Amino acid sequence: MYYILDSKGAFFGISRYAAKIPHPPVAAIASVAHTEPLSTQLRKPVNKQSFDIAVFDGDGIGPEIMQYTVQLLDQVTAGCNSFKLDYTSLPAGAGHYEKTGESLPQASLAAAGDSDAILLSAMGLPHIRKPDGTEIVPQIDLRIALGLFAGVRPVFTFPGGPQVLSDDRAAQLDFVLVRESIEGLFAHKDEGQVIDNNEATETLRITRKVSEQLFDFSFKLAQSRARRLNRPGKLMCIDKANVFRSFWFFREIFNERAAAFPDIETSAMYVDAAAMKMVQSPWDFDVMVTENMFGDILSDLGAGIMGSLGLAPSADIGINNAVFQPCHGSAPDIAGQGVANPLAMILSASMMLEYLGDNNNCEEATRCGESLRGAVTRAVAIDSGRGRDIGGTAGTESIARTVQDCL
Ligand code: ATP
Repeated sequence: MYYILDSKGAFFGISRYAAKIPHPPVAAIASVAHTEPLSTQLRKPVNKQSFDIAVFDGDGIGPEIMQYTVQLLDQVTAGCNSFKLDYTSLPAGAGHYEKTGESLPQASLAAAGDSDAILLSAMGLPHIRKPDGTEIVPQIDLRIALGLFAGVRPVFTFPGGPQVLSDDRAAQLDFVLVRESIEGLFAHKDEGQVIDNNEATETLRITRKVSEQLFDFSFKLAQSRARRLNRPGKLMCIDKANVFRSFWFFREIFNERAAAFPDIETSAMYVDAAAMKMVQSPWDFDVMVTENMFGDILSDLGAGIMGSLGLAPSADIGINNAVFQPCHGSAPDIAGQGVANPLAMILSASMMLEYLGDNNNCEEATRCGESLRGAVTRAVAIDSGRGRDIGGTAGTESIARTVQDCL
């Protein structure tokens, strides 16, 4: 059953995603690309049989890609004995703000906080703004309110998928950018001041507590990758410690935490150099960790070298909650045309299944996440799974249908 929570907090049931995707023939099989399993458990595992999933449909292309993602989640989990998913659709976003004056209702925030995982499609629309000129960004408000300090942005290439960089080594990219997601330059995002017609200021905030949590998470992620890839792990701190004191403070905390993870090789790089290296030799990276604004920019660069924003998934992880959403925005330029690539959203859902499995000792959920990721990998190598954003002609429905047939 699919539940809708309205802005006053009342539930009503609806079979919104009941329509089935028609079946084309199954095509070629490719090997599987990676998103990083989130096996760095932050809290004690609990054994649950039913996971509450908070769903935010979002704005622009958000609802278009979410409907197919939920159908695929239903399909991949259909035969599972040890768990099931219960969805609750929650209102938030620019469209909701336009109607009600609220971008993230308190009831939605509370229900999301109580859920086992949050599936969030793209939010915000450039023509809907607050009186101060800024856009509606409930996804950022949610991260801050729920303390989701670690933004995990895997960067990888698909076998048989697009390859943007010509070097042969770019055919097998596999690294992860961890973006600090609740402070940095976003910490006081609603408090920036336009002092007068000639001057405006913003404040960047780095705290010891969040930085330690961020670095510990990143070191554990590097350890988890080292085990999977059977080679030593590496973690690089990306900052601007040569110019800003706050980044020197960030770097010092990184070095302090490194002492607790002697098995991980550490290094540091200034953000400008890191941007260049991500284009020149991205195969040298393993795990990178950085401040919020730098991470925002570098993760789009990561999506660029993957081939498209439409392929780049992400997860924002905290101690008790996690949000899974595509790296891209609401793409209003293509909304309503049926051409949005749903794969970033679908891969984010596969990360959610792996997170639920890891955090709840539920191997079946982890396996479902791997199956969904494998199906996406195979779909990208087939014409009917290749969207316009990666040089193909397939629309949203065709891409989703191809993933379904690859499951
Ligand atoms: P935000 O700041 O909210 O992340 P943005 O301003 O960076 O958003 P996007 O909405 O991410 O912009 O869109 C950037 C470009 O990428 C647009 O041309 C858009 O059409 C394209 N794009 C984004 N997501 C997809 C997708 N899933 N499929 C196809 N094209 C996409």
